[in-house]
Amino acid sequence: MTVETIPNVRPRRLSKDEIEANFADLHPPLLRAEALIEADRCYFCYDAPCTTACPTGIDIPGFIQKIRSDNIRGSAQTIFRENIMGGMCARVCPTEVLCEEACVRNTHEEKPVEIGLLQRYATDPVIDAGTQLFARAPSSGKKVAVVGGGPAGLSCAHRLAVLGHDVVIFNRDKKPGGLNEYGIAAYKTVDDFAQIEIDYILSVGGIDVKHRVTLGEDVQLSELLRDFDAVFLGIGLGQSNNLGIDGEDKEGVINAIDYIAELRQADDKSRLPIGKTVVVIGGGMTAIDIAVQSRHLGAQQVHMVYRRGPEKMSASVFEQALAQTSGVTIHHRAPPKQILGDDHVTGVEFETDEGKFVLYADMVFKAIGQQMKGIGDLDMDNGRLVVNDGHRTSHETVWAGGDCVVGGDDLTVSAVQHGKVAAIDIDRHLRAQ
Ligand SMILES: Cc1cc2nc3c(=O)[nH]c(=O)nc-3n(C[C@H](O)[C@H](O)[C@H](O)COP(=O)(O)OP(=O)(O)OC[C@H]3O[C@@H](n4cnc5c(N)ncnc54)[C@H](O)[C@@H]3O)c2cc1C
Ligand code: SF4
Repeated sequence: MTVETIPNVRPRRLSKDEIEANFADLHPPLLRAEALIEADRCYFCYDAPCTTACPTGIDIPGFIQKIRSDNIRGSAQTIFRENIMGGMCARVCPTEVLCEEACVRNTHEEKPVEIGLLQRYATDPVIDAGTQLFARAPSSGKKVAVVGGGPAGLSCAHRLAVLGHDVVIFNRDKKPGGLNEYGIAAYKTVDDFAQIEIDYILSVGGIDVKHRVTLGEDVQLSELLRDFDAVFLGIGLGQSNNLGIDGEDKEGVINAIDYIAELRQADDKSRLPIGKTVVVIGGGMTAIDIAVQSRHLGAQQVHMVYRRGPEKMSASVFEQALAQTSGVTIHHRAPPKQILGDDHVTGVEFETDEGKFVLYADMVFKAIGQQMKGIGDLDMDNGRLVVNDGHRTSHETVWAGGDCVVGGDDLTVSAVQHGKVAAIDIDRHLRAQ
C-alpha cells in the first residue's frame, strides 16, 4: 500500500487545517508558572515510590526539586543519567500505570504530581539548545556493533559511547528512531521531535549510523562478530501477525503498523485515504492508536473489536478512555470469523458466546501484534530472543534488548532501560578481557 492508492477508499474527509488541529500536541507543555506550582505539589518522598515504578529508575523527586530551584540543566541531567530518551518518554510513557500511578498524591481526593509533564519541562530546553551534559570516557579501543536504531539501540549506543567505546549502528530503515519515528501516535510526538532528540543523543560523539543496512540481508551476524568486540541487537519486532481467516487479502484490509508508518511520514495527512466506516481488530496500543487516528483523519464511525474481555487489553485504561472520548466504539469478547465483500471489504463477521454479528466497514485495520524472524542460532522463546539479567543472549558476545527480547512490556521506556543495562554489561565484559 502507498498512501495515495487504496482503491475505493478516499482521502480528504476533512480539510488539511481540521486534520492539523486534530493531530496537535496531546499534552501541551507546561509554562514556567504551571511547572513551579506542579513541582511544589511533590512531597519529595524519601522512599519515592514513583522512582521505583519507573522502569529506568529516574530520581524523580531529585529532578523535581531542581525544577523548583530553576536548575533546569541539573534537572535534565538527573533524568538523562538514567534515561537518555527522557524527552520522548515524557511524551509517550503510560505514566498513569507507572510513576503517576505510584505517586502518593494519587488518591480519590487529588491527582498525582504530573511527573511526565514536569519531565518534559526539564528536558525540552536542554535538547532544544543542544546542551551537551555528558563527557566521553577516554577511548577503550573497543568497537561495538548495535543493530537497530530504535530506543533500545540508541540507548545502548549512547551509554557505550559515554563509557569510551566506539559504536556503529546498523539500521534497516531510512531514518533512525524505530517506532519513535514510524509508530508512536502522531499527536504524542509533534514537530519532528523524534529526529531532534536523536540528533541530541548522537551529539555525544563516537556513534556512527549506517542507514538502510539490514542484518541477515546486507550484513550477517558472523561478519559483525568478526569485525566488532561485541554486538547488541535492538531490532524490534518484524512483520504483523495475520488473522488467519477468510477474506483477509481483500482490498481495504490493511496492517495497522504499515498505515501508521505512512501516516507518521506524511507531510500532508489529509492526502491519506481513510474509510468512512472503519473496523480495527485488536486490543493493544496499536489498535487504540489506529482507531483514534482514523477518527482524527475523518472516519465517521470507528469500531475497535477485541476478542477477549477489557481486563485482558494491553492498552491502558487512559488509552481506552482516549479512544472512547475520540468517538471510537469498543467491543469485547468478539473474535473475527471472516472478512466480507467481493474484491473490496464490506464488513467483518464476528462470533460471540451469544451468536454472530456483522460490522459493516469500507476499511479494516489488523492490529493483532507482530512477530520476529530468528537471528542465527540464538536461543528464542515464543518468537523472541532469550536474554539473562545483563541482557546477554545465548551467544557470549551478543546482547539484545527492547521489543525483540522475552519478558519485555513493549514500551519505549523499557527498551531504553534494556539498552542501558546491556551497555553496562558489555562494558564490564570488554574491560574484563
Ligand atoms: C503503533 C505503536 C504505538 C506505540 N505507542 C507507544 C506509546 O505510546 N508509548 C510507549 O511507551 N510505547 C509505545 N509503543 C511501543 C514502543 O514503540 C516500542 O516498545 C519501542 O519502540 C521498542 O523499541 P525497540 O528499539 O526495541 O524497537 P523499534 O522501535 O521497533 O526499533 C527497531 C529498529 O531496528 C531496525 N531493524 C529492524 N530489523 C533490523 C535488521 N534486521 N537489521 C537492521 N536493523 C533492523 C529498525 O529499522 C528500527 O529502527 C508503540 C508501539 C506501536 C507499534
Ligand atoms: S511519589 Fe509523588 S509526591 Fe512522592 S516523590 Fe514521587 S512525585 Fe513526589
